[in-house]
Amino acid sequence: MITRTELLAYVDALLATSRFQDYCPNGLQVEGKQQINTIVTGVTASQALLDAAVANEADAILVHHGYFWRGEAAPVIGVKYQRLKTLLEHDINLLAYHLPLDAHTEFGNNVQLAKLLDIEIDGRISGTGDPAIGLCGCLKSPMPLDEFADYIDSKLDRKPMVVAGHDRVINTIGWCTGAAQGYIQQAAELGLDAFISGEASEQTTHLARELGIHYISAGHHATERYGVKALGEHLAAQFGLQHIFIDIDNPV
Ligand SMILES: [Zn+2]
Repeated sequence: MITRTELLAYVDALLATSRFQDYCPNGLQVEGKQQINTIVTGVTASQALLDAAVANEADAILVHHGYFWRGEAAPVIGVKYQRLKTLLEHDINLLAYHLPLDAHTEFGNNVQLAKLLDIEIDGRISGTGDPAIGLCGCLKSPMPLDEFADYIDSKLDRKPMVVAGHDRVINTIGWCTGAAQGYIQQAAELGLDAFISGEASEQTTHLARELGIHYISAGHHATERYGVKALGEHLAAQFGLQHIFIDIDNPV
């Protein structure tokens, strides 16, 4: 068992949340009970995740995508009302970590994706942000695009969408989970053979072809399942908590 105050202090320090300029508050987003035994983790604090957390008698929910995004409508009505009502009625804490959880050197989405795909990390891709969030590295055994796409499918259990940029095999690769397709330009400037992110824009296709770099859209949700899960497992081991990772299917 741990108190909410202790858990927050620990995770905020671990993920160095104060170093990030983000689009949402990182840390405690909705306050619940002080004593925490059971923690549920998931990618997004959707109603389905909240309902599953209630069914599992969670004291805290830890997610990558929480609430209160910059520019969203403030009134607590509709979907937002239902979600907050569920949390408040059951006295469940909601902790959300966005960019700090993408970037962390052990539990971050990008490091965890590299682990899953067995890619050797040898640098960072910053995009426009500081600290840098994306990573680059190389495949332990180079392979052509179609083979690499099948490999990703087998690891993530989701068929990626690919755009070919050349006919060489893939050796060097950059990646940034979520909606980081805009980093493709920087990946090409680094001379990488391929870039992986979660989503694609219409223009990503043309950029990949014209920059001469393969683009792989491997799923926003699919690429961001692993950070929060790894963090939850770490917290459970560290503080003797019960931890349940709940995957709410999302094809995007
Ligand atoms: Zn995301």
